[in-house]
Amino acid sequence: MEYDNAVHSMQCPKCDHGMEEVRHGDVVIDRCTHCGGLWFDEDEASHLKELKEGHLLDTGSPKEGWIWDSHADIKCPRCGKEMEKTSDSKQKHIWYEICHDHGIFMDAGEFTDFKFESLFDRFRTLVKGDRNTVAP
Ligand SMILES: [Zn+2]
Ligand SMILES: [Zn+2]
Repeated sequence: MEYDNAVHSMQCPKCDHGMEEVRHGDVVIDRCTHCGGLWFDEDEASHLKELKEGHLLDTGSPKEGWIWDSHADIKCPRCGKEMEKTSDSKQKHIWYEICHDHGIFMDAGEFTDFKFESLFDRFRTLVKGDRNTVAP
């Protein structure tokens, strides 16, 4: 849905469509109505990771997320500064954008991946490791 500030909580930094607030327990995050990307203020991502079913908020299609993953150079929806592309320290195949003052943006499917650290992840990281070779 096109961004409309009467309806949406913020504008998606990736695809420019509207984002809406979604809640799980006492954590509220913003999810894009178009690409399914997720915005986490400050440390919401680690809070949500601890909640048993936090990944249920990551309803976007990993395929869609994969398309948008390569879309770099996005700006923080809070301050408009260029966000830094970074990979997770434990799961190197997961890339997300971070604004050190405001929070992080993950593409659809990435949070679910981030939450379920597994032996498979570690194996895959060892084998591939490079974001260009890892398909969802
Ligand atoms: Zn989007
Ligand atoms: Zn910012």
